[in-house]
Amino acid sequence: MPALNTLMALYLQQLRDLYSAETQLLGALPRLIAAASDQTLRTGLERHLDQTRVQAQRLEGLFMDLDQSPGGQTCQAMRGLLAEGDELLRRDAPPAVRDAGLIACAQRVEHYEISAYGTAAKLADVLQLPHHAERLRLSEREEQAADLTLTAAATPINRAALGL
Ligand code: FE
Ligand code: FE
Ligand code: FE
Ligand code: ZN
Repeated sequence: MPALNTLMALYLQQLRDLYSAETQLLGALPRLIAAASDQTLRTGLERHLDQTRVQAQRLEGLFMDLDQSPGGQTCQAMRGLLAEGDELLRRDAPPAVRDAGLIACAQRVEHYEISAYGTAAKLADVLQLPHHAERLRLSEREEQAADLTLTAAATPINRAALGL
């Protein structure tokens, strides 16, 4: 891999990692949705699938702004998080227990994205790209809201799983 000689090079590397994370999630969310039983959880994940498409397009806009391409990087962290999710889905489990496991996977994903967007926005600040920082913080807030939705969905699902 080439050296990262400038903070701008690091910023682009971070954006490409995020773009890879979002596109991997786009591929995986339909599987997670299909495995969910609880209607609130399903609706929350479906909403986040739509949002994830918008977030990927938002990143594409930032690359266009810098005349750069979004590809060429694989987010190994998202790869690992989604592999853990798939591993979980291969196990037999009652629906409520499986839903609780899906939440465990999805919240790890959201927290990863929150930190990645927060870091990227901070880099955009110092690189004097205020429009980028604003777009990245918008995605960060969406990830935070998705995480809160999952926390709320967990209350009845965990109770139901406990009572089995
Ligand atoms: Fe996202
Ligand atoms: Fe990553
Ligand atoms: Fe892990
Ligand atoms: Zn997300």
